[in-house]
Amino acid sequence: MEPNQPSTPAQEAWTVQRILLWTTGFLKQKGIESPRLEAELLLAHARKCARIRLYTEFESIVSDDERAVMREMVQRRAKREPLAYIVGSKEFYGRNFDVGKGVLIPRPETETLVDICLDSIPKDSPSHIIEVGFGSGCIAITLAKQRDQCHVTATDVSSDAMRFALQNVAKHAVESQVRLLQGDCLAPVQSLAAVDPDLLFDGLVSNPPYVRDDEMATLQPEVGQHEPHTALQAGSDGLDIVRRLVRHAAELLKPAAFVALELDPEQCAVVAELLECSGFSDAHIHKDLSGLNRIVTAVRAA
Ligand code: GLN
Repeated sequence: MEPNQPSTPAQEAWTVQRILLWTTGFLKQKGIESPRLEAELLLAHARKCARIRLYTEFESIVSDDERAVMREMVQRRAKREPLAYIVGSKEFYGRNFDVGKGVLIPRPETETLVDICLDSIPKDSPSHIIEVGFGSGCIAITLAKQRDQCHVTATDVSSDAMRFALQNVAKHAVESQVRLLQGDCLAPVQSLAAVDPDLLFDGLVSNPPYVRDDEMATLQPEVGQHEPHTALQAGSDGLDIVRRLVRHAAELLKPAAFVALELDPEQCAVVAELLECSGFSDAHIHKDLSGLNRIVTAVRAA
């Protein structure tokens, strides 16, 4: 780890500023898109301080311990491991969620999915929502935090997801509102409904796996090589999970209940039609913050 400095490197101290400059150059060379920002986030993590603090500490010497931590993190990032896995958390809807290997990192598009659901969830009366594929738990937990009478029954097939989501439910203190069930797609909810035929929900939300098999090889290394394929990949048209979800959704929902699904822009029109043939009406396609078709909603036909 030697910087390109004109003066004698041996005598020059590793200050915050010098480490930031060196790391920025190194990450840039490794193809990282926002090298300066990431250098700052990593150094702030190594020094256990807020990123903004670094700017008042430019001349401070970085300790040997902090440099050792930093060196290890920078090496991992150079191998294109996602920053969120290295620092162990990701912000979503203004809150911090624990993440790590085995769980999908919350995406900004999914904040739009949450916003759309919140439009259909009452503030002052109880509601019961199903979520399929909870991952880190970011959707279920955010709905619970934003609507204190909202209860979410969420499923995920992955035990890694269960571990992180349980941690996040505890961290955000929503144990009384979020029920996590391990199992495939809607199966755990169907089991509940089998013993309680009156069990019907007010809405269903999912950010399912929706990447086509042939697209997997084109994903950024951070995603394709590091994030769990079970959370991403869904068959030759990316709709394997969506089809199974839609087939059994209506029977678990009350009349007029909503469904909201995050999808690839190219899948939205076909899924809108699929919903209209599967007991839903009033299908709408919504754009994400990048202006791309991203979310399909519909309501359970009466
Ligand atoms: N949009 C995601 C991506 O980054 C895909 C997430 C998903 O399949 N639900 O590739």
